[in-house]
Amino acid sequence: MADSLARRTIILRVDGENPESEKISVAAEIIRKGGLVAFPTETVYGLGADALNPNAVKGIYLAKMRPLDNPIIVHVANREDVYRLAAEVPRAAEKLMETFWPGPLTLVLKASNIVPRITTGGLDTVAIRMPRHKVALALIRVSERPIAAPSANLAGRPSPTLAEHVIRDLYGRIDAIIDAGPTNIGVESTVLDLTQDPPQILRPGGVTYEDLRDVLGRVSIHPAAASISEIHIRYARSPGMKHKHYAPRAEMVVVEGDLETIIRKVRDLAEQYTRAGRKVGILATDESMQKYSSGIVKSLGSRSNLAIAARNLFRLLREFDEEGVDVIIAEGVPEEGLGLAIMNRLRRAAGYNIIKAE
Ligand code: AMP
Ligand code: MG
Repeated sequence: MADSLARRTIILRVDGENPESEKISVAAEIIRKGGLVAFPTETVYGLGADALNPNAVKGIYLAKMRPLDNPIIVHVANREDVYRLAAEVPRAAEKLMETFWPGPLTLVLKASNIVPRITTGGLDTVAIRMPRHKVALALIRVSERPIAAPSANLAGRPSPTLAEHVIRDLYGRIDAIIDAGPTNIGVESTVLDLTQDPPQILRPGGVTYEDLRDVLGRVSIHPAAASISEIHIRYARSPGMKHKHYAPRAEMVVVEGDLETIIRKVRDLAEQYTRAGRKVGILATDESMQKYSSGIVKSLGSRSNLAIAARNLFRLLREFDEEGVDVIIAEGVPEEGLGLAIMNRLRRAAGYNIIKAE
């Protein structure tokens, strides 16, 4: 870690339901001065800076070691800001804002010329969302700045759903961390490109494909968004698609198929790896976790409640790392609803190391 990056990091513990205004003011002052503040949103923790200050935004890339061509989502607390940040706001965008904001939906629009190119990773589009978290909204309002914020992890690592995850990755590299406990949704926002016709999902997330289809009628899913294979990444439209992401330190494999065949395959693999002297972690579900007799077994929750599974996902990947697991075997889930976002994260965390169980 280069010394020039070293910063003194303050930790502000804040009530997520009733954020203390003195603490928000301290954090907002840091944002106004061009500093870096990690804060909770309803999806994951974000690393925020003044979106219109190129130097401040550059600090985000440096602190996270994020590739400079991976654009950053701009967070707003009111809809008027969208009209300043975007060159065009189509009718569909207005409809989506009415329906899903504040919430886990990011809209990609043509950028206006007030948005620095470092914020958009050099693109002529800007990604904007309004988070549904009192701390995030208070921070944006009090700082009186749109806040650029990617997830508050080192690039490539699982996204942070607890302030402890941010501390582990970024303590000493940023100015402040606002801790308001665990985030609710646990996977990032859905990124929807409204410069395409029909609108295209670039990253599945907290707002589902089905939700969007109900409002828009027609929605496409970028092939890389499902992340079935690395091949699709060549056609990446969202630069984030092609970078290594969500990866635990352990090697990882995702086993997909129907539940019975998944269980059989996971047991086989766990035994093989264990025999080879490797420490095995199994990412299971409530319905299957009793079926495994080797390895460290953790459950995402019930297959009938994928909202809970999404909330637990990144934390459990980090826990396996903390426990020194060499290889994580993860069960796949059906790709309906939040399942699409969960499978996108699992497949990418595994570096597309996917086994179809038969
Ligand atoms: P993060 O906030 O780190 O979880 O990542 C933000 C995601 O949004 C990345 O996958 C980016 O590539 C994507 N993104 C941000 N801005 C744009 C944009 N203007 N066009 C397409 N994708 C974008
Ligand atoms: Mg990220």
